[in-house]
This record gives sequence, structure tokens and C-alpha cells, in this order.
Amino acid sequence: MFKKILIANRGEIALRIQRACRELGVKAVMVYSEADREAKYIKLADESVCIGPAPSARSYLNMPAIISAAEVTDAEAIHPGYGFLSENADFAERVEKSGFKFIGPSPESIRLMGDKVSAKQTMIKAGVPCVPGSEGALPDDAAFIKRTAKQIGYPVIIKAAGGGGGRGMRVVHTEAALLHAVQTTRAEAGAAFGNPEVYMEKFLQNPRHIEIQIMADQHKNAVWLGERDCSMQRRHQKIIEEAPAPGIPRKLIERMGERCVAAVKKIGYRGAGTFEFLYEDGEFYFIEMNTRVQVEHPVTEWITGIDIVRTQIMVAAGEKLPFAQRNIQLKGHAIECRINAEDPYKFIPSPGRITTWHTPGGPGVRVDSHIYTNYFVPPNYDSMIGKIIVHGDTREQALARMSTALAETVVEGINTNVALHRELMVDAKFVDGGTNIHYLEEWLSKRER
Ligand code: ADP
Repeated sequence: MFKKILIANRGEIALRIQRACRELGVKAVMVYSEADREAKYIKLADESVCIGPAPSARSYLNMPAIISAAEVTDAEAIHPGYGFLSENADFAERVEKSGFKFIGPSPESIRLMGDKVSAKQTMIKAGVPCVPGSEGALPDDAAFIKRTAKQIGYPVIIKAAGGGGGRGMRVVHTEAALLHAVQTTRAEAGAAFGNPEVYMEKFLQNPRHIEIQIMADQHKNAVWLGERDCSMQRRHQKIIEEAPAPGIPRKLIERMGERCVAAVKKIGYRGAGTFEFLYEDGEFYFIEMNTRVQVEHPVTEWITGIDIVRTQIMVAAGEKLPFAQRNIQLKGHAIECRINAEDPYKFIPSPGRITTWHTPGGPGVRVDSHIYTNYFVPPNYDSMIGKIIVHGDTREQALARMSTALAETVVEGINTNVALHRELMVDAKFVDGGTNIHYLEEWLSKRER
């Protein structure tokens, strides 16, 4: 096992990884920007290093600063968390070339699966069904693009090969809007992701977002850890996740899980990963793979009893997976609500000082958050300030527990979406289970203020 790990992230996931390190008896080095200097998880760390000013481009995305921090603190490995540099193959490569272990897959795997076009091609080869679409990236050929869209059938969605975080996507309903949409998405993708490549998919009308968690070691062992339903989204961003996915036949999910494991073995993948699918009319369609730990990993941890972050660290250290597929049994039901610092109606970010933070508790309640009373939410980063996760024997019990937990939660000083979650937990359609990816936005457009 490693003696010391550097955590190249911030906020709740930095604290989550710090906790896993403590449990394993591994020292954790935290890096932070000037905006995060006062955060408690920095003060509580074994060691911490300032890596630059508030803007992430100069701190959490600053590769030389992070690698130097690992050098000066004698860390052996770097955990990238999610977001920031977690899916950056060049970073993984630089980390390994500098003599550190990257806690995640190899740079080659990140490159292959991080690019959505090559990921789709890889999955098609591995026998995993994908959303019908262009065969690869779209060429600069208007006639070809029009023909492709006609073949797929409108509406289509133009997606950036390097996209992520729900950005770099555009739905097109008519041929008249097609070329402009392709051009704009290309330009945006070039600026945002450094890769102007775009591809085309059929835009599915009422799918659910179902994803499969996998975990693999360096000794050719791989397992899948059940699925998550992340259909409750706004602007392609998840806000509620749950496991298992309500109402989908287990046989279908098992078949998909097995195919994901086969794909993982085929590409020699190591570490944690997620295969994302759209599910419509009894069929699964692969959309992308995330080659890192996900925000919503706790729901899987709860129904499987497996600590995903701990396992990531163990397999990066070269250990074998401590469980086989037959040991993995799903128990009960888990739900996660992402707590965002934002206006509950207009969704504009609401940074600032938290004057009260009262957390829920009791049986089956977990809170993953780095915030506290008097914490200042910096305006520079993602608006998510924490997650409330609950578990119950049944989905009904989990829903009741989440409602109780949300009723106990108090956040004052800034705006949050806690009230929105309270409403959703008692919404008849959501309570029934199986809402599609457009449901939340439709619900929001009809919401009374
Ligand atoms: P990102 O990497 O930005 O998360 P994804 O490819 O995972 O992008 O897509 C994010 C979300 O966008 C999906 O969960 C889904 O809601 C929507 N989406 C993506 N592709 C399609 C599609 N072909 N049809 C309908 N919705 C889609």
C-alpha cells in the first residue's frame, strides 16, 4: 500500500478521498487554490500545498504545480477525483512519467474511452449496442452531414467528441438548422475542450439514463457493481441518482453488466469506471464511458457494501480485487440528492457565506459534504456543495428517509436547491419510479412559484 497520496481535487470529493486514505492508514496531501485556503478539510489534512490562485486554470488544472506538489511532499500516487484533470490522458501520462502512480486507468485507456467517438467504436466492436448515429466524427462536408442526418432521422443531437459535464451538445429538429448547429458545436467544443471534433446521434425522445459501475484490477479481474438510474437531470446535469433502477428487468441489466465487464477485459482497463446508457423501450444504448469515480458513487457503495474509493486506491497499488462477481449482492435501495448552491427557481449560482448548516442524520442517512457553518462558497467552481444519500430496505423506505433528511437539512446565508428536492421526493410520478431524462425539465416548466 502507498504511504502517501496527493489528492488533486477540492470540495466534497477531496474530503471523501481524504477519508478513504485515513481509513487505509495512508497520509493524504491536499492541494488547494487561494480560494480554498480556509476550508476545514485543508486544515485537517496531514499536509497541504497551495497550487495557485482561485481560477481553476491556474490551480486545479495546473499540471506542473500539482506534480511539483507531489514531488516536494514525497507522495507516491495522485488521486484526481472527478472533473478537473481526472479524465485528462496527458495529465495521467505526466503523472506516471514523473514517477507517481495515477489512481485511475492507463493514459491509453483514458484516451480511448475519454474520446466519445473512439469509445463508441470500441463498444460496437465489443458487442455493446450504441445510439444510432454517424460512424465517426463528422467531416467538413455539408452534403455528407445532411445525408447522415436524413439517414438517422430527425431529431438528431450533435455532440462534441471531447465533451463532458452536459456541455457541448445541441439538438437539431430540422435540416434548416443542421449546418449552423454543427458549426456552433464545433466552435464551442474547440474552445471548451480543445477538440473541435463532433459526431451525430439520434436524439431519443423519452429515454432513461442508466449507468453501470465497473471496477477492474491489474490482474485481469473485473466486476460490475450494479446500475444507477440518473434520469433526473436539468440541462443534461444529474441532480438525483438512485440504485437499483426501478422497473427494469434484472435479466436485461445483467446482460448489459456482463457486456461491460467483457469490454473492460478486452481493453485491459483498470480502476473504477462507468458505462453510461440511454434506456428506451426495453433497449440499452451506450452513450459514453467515464474513466473515473462518479459524483453518484455512494448509491452503489450503499447497495453493494463496497467502498469504491478505497478499492480504487487498492487496485492502483497493485492489489487484487478483494471480491468476485458472485460475492456482489445488491441490498435495498439508495437515493442521492445533489445539493447545489443556486437560486431554486432561476438556477443561477449562489456563492457566499453559509451562516447555518445543519445536517440530517439517523438510520440510513449519509452526508458527503465539505461545508460547515461559516464556510464561504467560492464563486469560482461548480455549484455542488454536498450530497445527501439515503438507504432503505425498499425504495419506499428510501424515499421516506430522504424526505425526513431533507426536512432536517438547514442551509442559511446562500440559496440552495434543498426545497426543490423536498418537492420532488413527494412528486407522484417520481415516487412511481422510472421517469425519463426530460421529466424534470418538463416538471420545472410547469412548477408553480
Ligand atoms: P456528458 O459527457 O456531457 O455527460 P453524455 O453523452 O453522457 O454527456 O450525455 C449527457 C446527457 O445528455 C444524457 O444523460 C442524456 O440526458 C442527454 N443525451 C445524450 N445523448 C443523447 C441522445 N442521443 N438522445 C437523447 N438524449 C441524449
